[in-house]
Amino acid sequence: MSDNRTIQLVEIPIGGKGGFTWNRLHEEREEICETLVKTSEPDSDVDRDLLQARLRKLDDALDRLMSGSYGRCSQCGGAINEIKLETDPATSLCLDCCESKPSSVNSGSEMSSTAALHAPVA
Ligand SMILES: [Zn+2]
Repeated sequence: MSDNRTIQLVEIPIGGKGGFTWNRLHEEREEICETLVKTSEPDSDVDRDLLQARLRKLDDALDRLMSGSYGRCSQCGGAINEIKLETDPATSLCLDCCESKPSSVNSGSEMSSTAALHAPVA
């Protein structure tokens, strides 16, 4: 029995190392790094937490780009809308998951509450 997985080495049109998306992510990453260095004074107006979070997102995206999973939703595995990727190349969620993303991910406990959704409105 051979490996059933068909590994298709497709040229990733949107990225790949050295590709357009890669460059975009890298440029933004460098910009943020610079900003973080420049704004190391405690009285700066820059929201460093926000920048650092963004930096992590960019790193994640670069990781996915290298591992070949770029463009796939990290939550449901579905393809991420190209327009969404163009708007934010670091995005890791498809439109569905992005919109329905709850502030606290707590799946599993939702099962029992579904019945309440179907309760007749008085
Ligand atoms: Zn998704």
